[in-house]
Parts: sequence; structure tokens; C-alpha cells
Amino acid sequence: MMFDGKVALVTGGGSGIGEAISKDLARAGAKVVVTDIKLESAQRVVDEIESRGGSAAAVQQDTASKGDAEKVVAFATETFGGLHLAVNNAGIGGQQAPAGEVDLDDWDRVIDINLNGVLYGMRAQIPAMLSQGAAESAIVNMASIHGTVAAINNGAYTAAKHGVVGITKNAAAEYGPQGLRINAVGPGYIETPLVESSLPAEARQALEGKHVLGRLGEPEEVATVVRFLLSGDASFVTGAYWLVDGGYTAV
Ligand code: NAD
Repeated sequence: MMFDGKVALVTGGGSGIGEAISKDLARAGAKVVVTDIKLESAQRVVDEIESRGGSAAAVQQDTASKGDAEKVVAFATETFGGLHLAVNNAGIGGQQAPAGEVDLDDWDRVIDINLNGVLYGMRAQIPAMLSQGAAESAIVNMASIHGTVAAINNGAYTAAKHGVVGITKNAAAEYGPQGLRINAVGPGYIETPLVESSLPAEARQALEGKHVLGRLGEPEEVATVVRFLLSGDASFVTGAYWLVDGGYTAV
């Protein structure tokens, strides 16, 4: 299988897109460390992976914690003997308000989890990957279409996701010479608890219409692109911001 012998780490793997990625990587043969701020969610995903014959382990992580980023890499190494693939996926939506009325605690929370968490993650993951052969490794960071267009009334989310695209390009440029590939993906709106919990029916219809394909995406449609970017099939792809948006940003 594509990822036989590889160890993968997925943050926020207990729900939605991270859950789909964790299951997809396990199906492709990786041993998957599923992290989440809710340990019971990560454990549920691990149980489902194991019940289908895959290998996985759950560990609690708050991506806004610098120490947790180090802890989960150490966990991957102790549990499965190394770390080759990482998906810095965890993220939250944040409160709705225009820039002049932003709640500053909410701003800090979204930036901490969605942006700082990606940097904390890579800062812990990259040395582990370099120590065992960077060409065997790859990282994907979860941006969003809001890494390139505004999420009206959610400036923290827009700023964080633009930041994720930026730090992905930097890290790719800095570690490309050693053979480590680092990319970002930019999903449009995807059917996950994050979107379902925050959308009234009429807002949902309007949102569907913003995607050229006339619908929201499925988590598995993001997972397949992440799998490609992590794989040898993407051996000449790095520093990219790969949209998976049903055409949202084409119009
Ligand atoms: P989700 O709410 O379904 O899942 C997110 C998971 O992250 C949850 O299990 C949650 O417990 C966990 N989490 C939350 N805060 C955390 C923290 N501080 N540390 C660790 N784990 C934490 O959301 P989703 O829709 O699957 O979103 C996953 C990622 O995809 C996010 O970065 C989000 O911004 C991004 N994204 C989502 C969409 C979408 O439409 N759903 C679109 C583009 C990008």
C-alpha cells in the first residue's frame, strides 16, 4: 500500500475533515496518530480504524499549546517509531463580527489555534522528519478558500488562513533543499460539524450557490487531495496552495 511503513500525525483528527484524512491515510497503510483537543473523539476514530484492520493511536492535543506540539511528536516516535507524514488540520470557526467590532479574546483564540498551532506543529515535526530522511516525509497544512478570499465578518479566520498559506510557502522554501515537501490545501465549504452547526437553512443554500458545482464538499474529497500531496505522486509539488473548493474562487 502507498503508505506502508509510514507514520502519520493528523491534528484535529476526531471530527470532520481530520477524521476523513485519518481514515484515508490508515486505509493507505499508514500508522496514524490521531490528535484532538477532545481525546474521546480521537479515540472513537482510532477505534473505527482498528476495527477495519488499520493501525492508529489517539493522543490529546491543544494545537494552541507549544508543549502539546512537542508531546504528540514524541508520542508518535514512542508509539510507532518515527514520524513521516503530518497534517496540521485542527481549526475553529470563531465568532462573527466586522473588523471594527471584533472580540479580541476571540481573535486571539482563532489565531492561536488556526495559525500559531500550525507553526507550533511544524516546528516540532520538521526536526523529527529531518532526522530520519526528509525525502521520505511530507507535511500538509489545512488552509481554506479564506487563505485567498475574505470570510466576511470573520477576519481572524481569514487572517489565520492567509497566514497558514504564508508560513507553508516559507517552510517549503526553507526545507526544500533538504527534500522535505510542505503544502497547504484550501477547501471550500465542506459538510462537517463545523459548518453544519453554524448555518441556518437559507444561508446554506446561498453558500451552495457560491460553489460552481452547486453543492458543499464532502470531507473525503479533501482527504484524497491531502493523500496525493503527501504521496510520492506529488514528488515535484511543494510550497503549493491547493484549492479543493468546487470552483468557489474561480468566480
Ligand atoms: P470540525 O469541527 O468538524 O473538526 C475539527 C476538530 O478539531 C474537532 O474534532 C475539534 O475537537 C478539534 N479541535 C478544535 N480545537 C482544537 C485544538 N485547539 N486543538 C486540537 N484539536 C482541536 O471541523 P472541520 O470542518 O473538519 O475543520 C477542520 C479544518 O478544516 C479546520 O482547520 C478548518 O478551518 C478547515 N476548513 C474547514 C472547512 C469546512 O467547510 N468545514 C473549509 C475549509 C477549511
